[in-house]
Amino acid sequence: MSDLLTTMRELVIANRILAREGVVDAYGHISVRHPTNPERYLISCSRSPELVTLSDIMEFTLDGVAIDPRDRSPYAERYIHGALFEKRTDVHSVIHNHSHAVIPFGVTAVPLRPLVHVAASIGDKVPVWDIRDKFGDTNLLVVNMAQGRDLAEFVGGGRTALMRGHGCVVTGATIKEAVITAVYMQVNARLQMEAMRLGNVIYLSPGEIQEHQKVIFGPLSLNRAWEYFVMRAGCQGM
Ligand code: MN
Repeated sequence: MSDLLTTMRELVIANRILAREGVVDAYGHISVRHPTNPERYLISCSRSPELVTLSDIMEFTLDGVAIDPRDRSPYAERYIHGALFEKRTDVHSVIHNHSHAVIPFGVTAVPLRPLVHVAASIGDKVPVWDIRDKFGDTNLLVVNMAQGRDLAEFVGGGRTALMRGHGCVVTGATIKEAVITAVYMQVNARLQMEAMRLGNVIYLSPGEIQEHQKVIFGPLSLNRAWEYFVMRAGCQGM
């Protein structure tokens, strides 16, 4: 199987996993950098992730121009992906989602912070990007490269960011890393909401975050989690 086909299949499976875990619903998307051309990326056409198949996967330049659109419509917010691939050579997969669990932490002064080891990869205190700071009143969607680049600049060298009143963005060195981070970011948001109702929360320290990231992105842990999520999403035959 070619590198391209292998990558496309993994991207389809990642779409199904994110849907199965409730990280995405009708909306949200995941992309991957093209395996042989770093100036291009792959992402589904405008379709809900649970429904994505191989024939939906489209190729784009980093500034969001479709290479072979045929009769397929692109996601309006694809600029999030291209801008991050443009800024970050270490990033090979990007997820944008509207997980309900994370939204409260983007609209209040309470930062989303890892309190459980499996969420260490979200980073210490997830920063909140506000599109209004630079672009005033908009429909909140990231619909051009100027907005995408502003978001990418804000993410900087980090792995995640919240988007005020909208959702979040998650990056990874691989599809697997991005998916695991997005799944456990949602888990952490739910647990943090619960824990805060009980009292003061003890969060992971920066040292613990660093140590656990080595574990969760090690092959033993990552492949085990991937196999589990693939099965849960019913993708073992894909
Ligand atoms: Mn969105």
